[in-house]
Amino acid sequence: MFARLTDADQAELLGHARVLLEEKHFEGAAGLLMRDEVRVTVAAQAAVLLLHRDTDYFERLTSVIVYPTGYVATEATHAQDGVWSEGEEHLLGHTQRDLRALVLAWDEVKAGAADPHDGQNLVLHEFAHQLDFEDGYTDGTPPLESGAQARSWADVLGRELEALRRAADSGEPTLLDPYGAEDPAEFFAVATETFFERAVELQRRHPSLYEELRRFYRQDPATWHPLES
Ligand SMILES: [Zn+2]
Repeated sequence: MFARLTDADQAELLGHARVLLEEKHFEGAAGLLMRDEVRVTVAAQAAVLLLHRDTDYFERLTSVIVYPTGYVATEATHAQDGVWSEGEEHLLGHTQRDLRALVLAWDEVKAGAADPHDGQNLVLHEFAHQLDFEDGYTDGTPPLESGAQARSWADVLGRELEALRRAADSGEPTLLDPYGAEDPAEFFAVATETFFERAVELQRRHPSLYEELRRFYRQDPATWHPLES
């Protein structure tokens, strides 16, 4: 993805990545030894979401915790009648609003970076959640610039989420990962992955959605140089 950016964007991206490396605490878990390769691969991808935008550096986030591979999280879930039970879930990445941490599986981070065209990118996905949290709500709407933009965002993303739900229910193939049909927050994270990794198709098949994301991210990845094959 980096190779497709202009020289000016590459320089800006490296600057943002440097700030993230300074400001965030990177920690290895389950035997992963934290090293520059891991830090830089995460920070540089996260910095893609900051390009051209006048914004803070994922202000709610303090730590990035990296596991070697998918990990099993033990999560307290509320069952019924005030009884809490522990459930186990296999995860590749995770973050939540008040956690101040973001958890990633290193093999999935590398796979996401290695193929910039498959529409799957764990780092973009999890850091998009962090942007969503910035206004204090987990609702798939990051801070927007005006009431008009917020109305248009709600209208377009709401319709697109419904369309994805219908397609997912009927088993139709979709450009957006059907996981995005889960809720508005997952929809925004999945749409972000598609926007940066399958921009031309997203613009062709979902022009209004592409336009909302273009306006928010202040980037037009459909016009990026194609990679030499
Ligand atoms: Zn998610």
